[in-house]
Amino acid sequence: MADDQDHASSQPPRTATAIIHSGYEAPAGFDAFPLAVHRASTVVFENVAAMRSRTWQQKSGYTYGLHGTPTSFTLEARLTEIEGGKHCMLAPSGLAAISMIDMALLKSGDDMLIPDNAYNPNRDLGQWMARHFGISTRFYDPMIGAGIKDLIRPETRLVWTEAPGSVTMEVPDIPAICAAAHAAVGQGSRPVVALDNTWSAGLAFKAFDHGVDIVMQALTKYQSGGSDVLMGAVITRDDALNQKIEEAHMRLGYGVGMDDCYLVSRGLPSMKLRFDAHDAAAHAVARWLKSRPEISRVLHPAFEDCPGHATWKRDFTGAGGLFSVIFDERHPEALTDRFVDSLKLFKIGYSWGGAHSLCVPYRVKGMRANWPHAGQLVRFYIGLEDPRDLIADIGQALGVLQGDASSFHGEG
Ligand SMILES: *Cc1c(COP(=O)(O)O)cnc(C)c1O
Repeated sequence: MADDQDHASSQPPRTATAIIHSGYEAPAGFDAFPLAVHRASTVVFENVAAMRSRTWQQKSGYTYGLHGTPTSFTLEARLTEIEGGKHCMLAPSGLAAISMIDMALLKSGDDMLIPDNAYNPNRDLGQWMARHFGISTRFYDPMIGAGIKDLIRPETRLVWTEAPGSVTMEVPDIPAICAAAHAAVGQGSRPVVALDNTWSAGLAFKAFDHGVDIVMQALTKYQSGGSDVLMGAVITRDDALNQKIEEAHMRLGYGVGMDDCYLVSRGLPSMKLRFDAHDAAAHAVARWLKSRPEISRVLHPAFEDCPGHATWKRDFTGAGGLFSVIFDERHPEALTDRFVDSLKLFKIGYSWGGAHSLCVPYRVKGMRANWPHAGQLVRFYIGLEDPRDLIADIGQALGVLQGDASSFHGEG
């Protein structure tokens, strides 16, 4: 044994060991702009005392890759700054961020309110939680404003909001909903208001300044901007709320890939410029659509046709690239589907936030009670192409509604 120990300490390590324990260290002092990608499962501690003293809840150090590395911590800090919050937890998708909030805040017997026009997987998750976990999930009219006070029960723990609803584009009165929810104190704690703030990217609506407790972002959209990564974020200002979110993150194992964090971080410096470009182009396309006889209503929050337009004007500083239109009810679904199929630059597909323009027809019946419009709803996402080409593309596709594609001449 003595011989072996002596051998181990004096001989160079054998090949299998040497290729793992390299003696090389890169020189210190490297500095560059991109976010460094630190991938890790195991995080190495200096000694046992350091290992025992670290807890995963403190972001002043590292414990295990699931809880973050300098890469995810840095992305979280940048997102916190953009949103004007204090804490951020990443999740593997926007939907995972929604479920992390639900799981963090709700237990069986609790009640949750979700706007009737919410992002559909949020609605579906709420219904699933009602069936499986004894949560009461109720849907409310997003335009209810202060009237939400009549819906709040002692067991109401979570009020979801989405501004605007990303299909019907109705802009809710977030300050009124927050004030009513916060005034209703049930069983010792007031309901928490969570906002899906994806539409505004955190740029055009300062959620915390309007009373929101928890912001959720689908980073998949504008933050990434590349149509190539899925990620979500939950941002809070309140330490106790953040603690609950962190515990849910830990228990659910919602780690994110550091390469994905890098991809999202790569989009951030250009996000404001892109958002403003999408915004200007979407205004141009929406204005043109408003002038068309085939379109009965332009559901763009910056346009008077849109429910909640005055609220948007009061609370928002921009609009980005996503809006919907209602076709004149003369045009049945089969025809508006043909319109969408006839688009060439606009591609058919979910999500948004990238460079490519997208178009999706939605069946609002079943998504939104008491929807007053009989015409077909079609949602446009305006990418970064020249809006004149996008207008020309919509113009040629509208030709199918006349049964005569040649009726469109030139651009607007
Ligand atoms: C896309 C989206 C989500 C979900 O994000 P994913 O990363 O696709 O899961 C949630 N809310 C809204 C409003 C969205 O547009």
